[in-house]
Amino acid sequence: MDKIELLAPAGDLARLKTAVRYGADAVYIGGKQFSLRSRAGNFSLEDIAEGVKFAEAHHANVHVTVNMLPHEDDLNGLEDYLKALEDIGVKAIICASPGMIQCAKRVAPRLEVHVSTQHSITNSAAVNYWKNHGADRVVLARECTLKQISATSQNSELPLEVFIHGGMCVSYSGRCMLSNHMTLRDANRGGCAQSCRWKYRLYESGKPIHDEDHLFSMSSKDLVGARYLPDLIRLGIASVKIEGRMKSAYYIATLVHTYRMMIDELYAKGSLSKAVMDEYCEQLMKAENRPTACGFYAGLPGVNEHLYGVNGAGISKEYIADVLAYDEYKHLATIQVRNHFEPGIMAEVFAPHQAAQRFQIQEIFDEDGLRLLAANQPMRIVKIKTNIKMEKYAMIRKIIDQKERYSE
Ligand code: SF4
Repeated sequence: MDKIELLAPAGDLARLKTAVRYGADAVYIGGKQFSLRSRAGNFSLEDIAEGVKFAEAHHANVHVTVNMLPHEDDLNGLEDYLKALEDIGVKAIICASPGMIQCAKRVAPRLEVHVSTQHSITNSAAVNYWKNHGADRVVLARECTLKQISATSQNSELPLEVFIHGGMCVSYSGRCMLSNHMTLRDANRGGCAQSCRWKYRLYESGKPIHDEDHLFSMSSKDLVGARYLPDLIRLGIASVKIEGRMKSAYYIATLVHTYRMMIDELYAKGSLSKAVMDEYCEQLMKAENRPTACGFYAGLPGVNEHLYGVNGAGISKEYIADVLAYDEYKHLATIQVRNHFEPGIMAEVFAPHQAAQRFQIQEIFDEDGLRLLAANQPMRIVKIKTNIKMEKYAMIRKIIDQKERYSE
């Protein structure tokens, strides 16, 4: 049986390489044209070519989003673009527009076509419709419960991809007009202004129903579907996808590292004990999530799956440094600072081929060996003494308790 694919997002080449190094089977990215997420720092064709080369060297694939709902002018250059993606060696494109799908089949037949979640596909009839129209895979709507995913998978003639982790729309994905209406920025053409997460004044019969300190907002909690991973594997789902092309390298590394270990352990052992699953879920919480819930997996989300009265709610900040090198003789790690930290804190290092290990940061030195009271300049290179052998590309985070994690 083929292993379920771990599909990670990347907003630029550096993050693509991070996702691949940390164990993603495939990475999805957006090009400069025809993609949603217009602010995700999208890839030029040269960047895509370099990304494909890097991914292939690590036995991974690159998928490119071509998922905008185009207006007539948006179609200019589409054929050349699709042919270029095919020539570069991109494995698949993720599409929402039927016209774009037809065009890809005609001009670039070696590209797999995956039908985007923007299509809100929630049943096997829709999946099989797309099979008859040339698609190779369908990304199910995020609004499917596990029961619906199970029923759909039994009758589907195409491989299915589902979201396992990341931000959720408070509206039905791909159907929201809020941003378009309020800002003329079209969510379905990559311009979502995240209007749902703004703060609103509510009125009843013309009178405000709350004071200025307690304005209303209505965003969704972030999805964490990790506890459903064993079910998704059992159902034969082809791919689990992490949302977040705008997210940081640390976010991607934390999630990919954890889901990689979960998937490998599930295939090796057949199941995970509750204690092991709890430990993996705790690792996932160390990414810069908002408060989390299980989305639609358990059924229709209720009041506990939404966030009210918070804006950009409580993104955790525990990522403190990247590891650049380790001197085994001197037991010195050279690291690049990302967030403020001081001597004495407990930290944890994790790397592509290294499970997380805890240690205390005792002393911090500058590049000339002078002792520092704190590492407080982002991107500064400093050194710390540690007996833990650290790999290049490892990341360090501080140990933080749950209360502190969402304290902002
Ligand atoms: S405004 Fe909110 S619900 Fe609508 S598309 Fe944007 S993120 Fe999704």
